[in-house]
Amino acid sequence: MRLSVRTLGCKVNQVESDALVGLLKALDPVVVPLEAGADLVVINTCAVTTSAESDARKEVRRARRANPEAFVVVTGCYAELAPELLAELGADAVVPNRRKAELPGIILQRFGLPADPLTTPPNEFWGAGERGLLNNYVRAFIKVQDGCNAGCAYCIIPRLRGRERHREYRDALEEARALLRAGVQEIVLTGVRLGSYRGHPGGIAGLVEELAGMGAKVRLSSIEPEDTGEELLQVMRRFAPQVRPHLHLSLQTGSDRLLALMGRRYSKAYYRALVERAYDLIPGFALTTDVIAGLPTETEAEHQETLAFLEELRPSRVHVFTYTPRPKTRAASLPQVPLEVRKRRNRELTLLAQRLAEERMRPLLGSRVEVLVESFRGDRAYGHTPDYYQAELTGPARVGQTVWARVEAVAGYTLQGRVEALKEEPAS
Ligand code: SF4
Repeated sequence: MRLSVRTLGCKVNQVESDALVGLLKALDPVVVPLEAGADLVVINTCAVTTSAESDARKEVRRARRANPEAFVVVTGCYAELAPELLAELGADAVVPNRRKAELPGIILQRFGLPADPLTTPPNEFWGAGERGLLNNYVRAFIKVQDGCNAGCAYCIIPRLRGRERHREYRDALEEARALLRAGVQEIVLTGVRLGSYRGHPGGIAGLVEELAGMGAKVRLSSIEPEDTGEELLQVMRRFAPQVRPHLHLSLQTGSDRLLALMGRRYSKAYYRALVERAYDLIPGFALTTDVIAGLPTETEAEHQETLAFLEELRPSRVHVFTYTPRPKTRAASLPQVPLEVRKRRNRELTLLAQRLAEERMRPLLGSRVEVLVESFRGDRAYGHTPDYYQAELTGPARVGQTVWARVEAVAGYTLQGRVEALKEEPAS
């Protein structure tokens, strides 16, 4: 079975695509590129912005053109929003998020195989404990939470991913154990609103502590500032750098008026205090964040406030999004900032983000950093530092090893360097 999978959007989609491939084992799938002729194409879509939607439509057309005979299945957030349109573009089956757990069964039946109840997760599409062929086998994502109850004014996700659900922690630990046995070196916890996690009595901090106690290296994907409590910071401090000293705390805007208008549940003062506490408490802490350029009603002064706040926070990376109105969201009915202005503000934020990254990375020149080697291309090893800088290395190393590397150059967001010594053989 020649299978092609295209995943758009966030880490949650990635982990779901990978788990799906694991659940299709009975088809004996070989993953091939879209243009190499596939029998089955799965497109896992995103709808967070209008450009994500347009990418999804492009992928469906491309899949149909390249594979006229294939069974093309479209799933994910855009499948929730525009199922008819996706079918018109050539999808044979459109499976929205709320029916994602049925995906393996639908596909197996289409290819004449029984949908073994064991291959169909009963209520929720958490992942399989057994991975497909897509995941990077050094760093693997575990999904522990889905949905969002928060209802930020600009965000369509609650409509597309439903109410918050939490994976029972013993189930997540079992998956982690299986991944560690299979040679995975770092577990990345992920969810739509990860910090709301309630599948462990100690919340997200409790789960991280359990994983760290098992000896796993643990990283958190994006987390909401108001969900990041002292308990989590303390666990990160205690286990750094095994629990990675990095948080991605979505800021969105540096204006208190806009934070309130957008239904965000923290103030600038709260965010500032949280980040200062993390810098103080956690050795080697690095912050990354998201901001949205041109939220509805944003004034020039408020945009300047966001720029100034970012300067103050010293993030190592900022993802800048241009605001686009999403259907049936409160923000879409507010007075809009003209598109040209939104784009110009995006450019200014992006330039600042680049400068701030450079200011954080330049002092690392000549220093020795720890890197987990995740892949090789040609004679170069690629990986990340615990504080989540990308690294590109020359010198002796193997995938899965943790090495000490000397930083020789900074190129964009990447530290370039040379391997000096082995820090740790892969644990398995
Ligand atoms: S917390 Fe806000 S921005 Fe994040 S998914 Fe929920 S509604 Fe969207």
